[in-house]
Amino acid sequence: MTRLSRRETLTIVAGGAAMGALPRLMSAAKGPHFPKGAIIRTIQKDLRPEELASGVTLFHEHLSIDLRPRNAPPPKQPAPTSDVNLIVEEVKAAQRDGIVCIVDGGHPDMGRNLDNLKQIAERTGIHIVASGGYYMERNYPPEIASKNEDQIAEELAQEAKANRYGAFGEIGENPNAPMSETEQKVFRAVGKAHLRTNLPIFTHNAYGTGPNVPREAGLHQLDVFEAVGVKPQRVVIGHTCCLDDPEADIIKQIAKRGAWVGFDRMNTVEQFVPDEKRVKMLVKFLDAGYVNQLLLSSDFTGARTAEGPLYGRTKTVFAPKLMQAGVKEETIHTILYDNPRRFLAFVPKKV
Ligand SMILES: [Zn+2]
Ligand SMILES: [Zn+2]
Repeated sequence: MTRLSRRETLTIVAGGAAMGALPRLMSAAKGPHFPKGAIIRTIQKDLRPEELASGVTLFHEHLSIDLRPRNAPPPKQPAPTSDVNLIVEEVKAAQRDGIVCIVDGGHPDMGRNLDNLKQIAERTGIHIVASGGYYMERNYPPEIASKNEDQIAEELAQEAKANRYGAFGEIGENPNAPMSETEQKVFRAVGKAHLRTNLPIFTHNAYGTGPNVPREAGLHQLDVFEAVGVKPQRVVIGHTCCLDDPEADIIKQIAKRGAWVGFDRMNTVEQFVPDEKRVKMLVKFLDAGYVNQLLLSSDFTGARTAEGPLYGRTKTVFAPKLMQAGVKEETIHTILYDNPRRFLAFVPKKV
């Protein structure tokens, strides 16, 4: 085995560019390091991060969601996830594909039903991480307007404790406009709720869903969190796979600042950026040395298609495309098995 100098070793551990050249040495190590006392909080129990090492964790899916703007009339068809039996079957299919844990990215203003999540976890044995927060201004409950950011933060921290949330997310903003003042207030509040609880944060960006979404939107989200003291290492900037960015410029900037990059709309609906382009973007991102800051998921909302179950497709469809493009198996393993656990693991604070 090649002897490494201390400096080279440090470069590898830090996820530097040398890593791509030495994947075997990396995989020979014991696996990711977690802070002392760190846990992953599912709706049923607290797990040691090592307990999820054998399977894939999807950090942004929806197992219960009924998303519509506040005051909008009920749709003619109920949301697909309202059929718990259907979702149980979909989750079982994902388990057969090697998925062991799913983070549900919804919260009350997205029509998330916690009892449904508990039922799905009980009936399938999958680990489910529930999440908290607010989605975007058009979905906020009316009382958000009259509360200040500290009140919102304190209430979110208490809600997280009462409901065993394991993350805050997805936290988003309206499409086709800069982040509104109220949204800034909510982002700051979520940042402060993170400081109270230590729960990790993941965001929603409107990339691909409108003509006027600024390319820098994700960087701006990071600015707002950092302004209240959140470390970028605890934040995933989401939906960056829907930004047509052939040079991977924005995601490299996000990662350079220390945050996670969420390539998290890996469903088969390729209406934003086709997989071929996404794969090229990711190869550039990985070649720049950022394997330890990438998270993949599909943001699937339960709608059954002719292609059948979709929750597992990040692993079964997208990951093979990365391998075909030359990404090594060890690297894929790091991204699917290790990175989500590193993102979710946190040392709880007393609230
Ligand atoms: Zn989203
Ligand atoms: Zn989502």
